[in-house]
Amino acid sequence: MFLNKKEKSYYFLVVFCIIFVLLLSFFSIDSLKNDYFDAIGQRALSVAVVTADSIKLSDSEVERLEKLGFSDLLDDTVNIEFEQHVRKFMKSSGIKYIYIMRRLSPDKIKYTVNKEETSYFGVPEGTKLDTIYLMDAVIDHRTRLEDTDNQWYCDKDRYTVLTKYILDIYTHEKTTYAFYEDEWGSYLTGFAPVYSIEGNYIGILGVDIFLEEYTTLVNKRIMILVLLNFISVIMGIIIINSFRRIYKTRADAYHFRQKSYLDDMTDLYNRRTLKERSKDYWEKALKQNISITVVMMDIDHFKAYNDKYGHMVGDELISKVASAMKLCTRENEDLLFRYGGDEFMIMFFDTEINTINLIIKRIREHVKSIWIKGVDERVTLSFGIASTLPKEGSDLNQLIENADQALYLSKQEGRDCIHFFDDRHQKNQK
Ligand code: GH3
Ligand code: MG
Repeated sequence: MFLNKKEKSYYFLVVFCIIFVLLLSFFSIDSLKNDYFDAIGQRALSVAVVTADSIKLSDSEVERLEKLGFSDLLDDTVNIEFEQHVRKFMKSSGIKYIYIMRRLSPDKIKYTVNKEETSYFGVPEGTKLDTIYLMDAVIDHRTRLEDTDNQWYCDKDRYTVLTKYILDIYTHEKTTYAFYEDEWGSYLTGFAPVYSIEGNYIGILGVDIFLEEYTTLVNKRIMILVLLNFISVIMGIIIINSFRRIYKTRADAYHFRQKSYLDDMTDLYNRRTLKERSKDYWEKALKQNISITVVMMDIDHFKAYNDKYGHMVGDELISKVASAMKLCTRENEDLLFRYGGDEFMIMFFDTEINTINLIIKRIREHVKSIWIKGVDERVTLSFGIASTLPKEGSDLNQLIENADQALYLSKQEGRDCIHFFDDRHQKNQK
């Protein structure tokens, strides 16, 4: 497929728009996700801080709780009260688990990771489960059972091992939140350190907000956003396309009109244009009370030239005479016509005869110096000039006829000369 320059820039624009909107969608999706996650993370964090602050455990109670098996912990009044307290706001905040993780001194470590548990804990076989869930609250009883396939917890379930990232939070007693994805789903966890009544560091409290419902919400918004962006692109392309069509139709019409006004060989105005516009030219001069001067010019002995050098060379001469006319006249003021065959016409408005004479002189010189391959003779032109201040009741045709008469006189005088027609007398300038 071959595309022209305009089409190429159009398609470039369309591709640019699509890429721009895709990038925009990508970045807006990203920032939308980040905004949501940040809002949820901040919520998890503030719940973690408030909950950690509400825990009033003495060092001795911590030691007692550490020794309990998992079932005993769940039945223990301290854990039951803790769970009852936090369940009040867990549901409304979308929180699934709240727990305290505490690192054990080496002598209290009871379990290591066995072969089947390596992928579950993400650590090699034999790694010590050196962290205990000191307290543990789940949103409701059903969720607790679901997590263990409807079986009750075994004692080992109370122990875990910290990932490097959480170990860092634990060690530096950080208050922060983090995003996680594991076999339980994706969630944001807020962390806050917990201290005993005596002021000793107990461990880190975790608040897990699962993201399923939020993800669905975010995905819905993302889909709407992408759809809107997509619609904008399509609309944009349709608008650009319609502008392009309007522009093309106008350009075509203009081009066509221009073409039909101009002579094919010389690109000067043709006889038809003169006919159609002669009234306008006349009225323009009449209204402004300015003179119109018509210069008719004709190539001398062109028939013989044609016969001698052939029609093609004749055509070339006509084009070069037209170029000389364009070169020597004033682009936006003087009107140039190919009147027919080897006859041309120039129309001047409000122009001094001296200026016209100068222009004609230049044209004659240019035409005399025309060089065409294989032709060694110089070409001359004959001129007829008529000028008038337009009056009601007369028209341009009369003026043209007068100029034509003057041209006829130039031909009769022997060619290569200028005749000026006026109502009173005729001047001959050579
Ligand atoms: P004069 O000096 O009296 O004007 O002599 P002339 O030979 O130029 O006579 P005339 O103006 O009557 O001849 C015009 C010739 O121009 C006749 C025609 O064959 C030739 N002609 C008209 N149009 C074209 C054209 O488009 N191309 C070429 N090559 N010749 C043309
Ligand atoms: Mg001629």
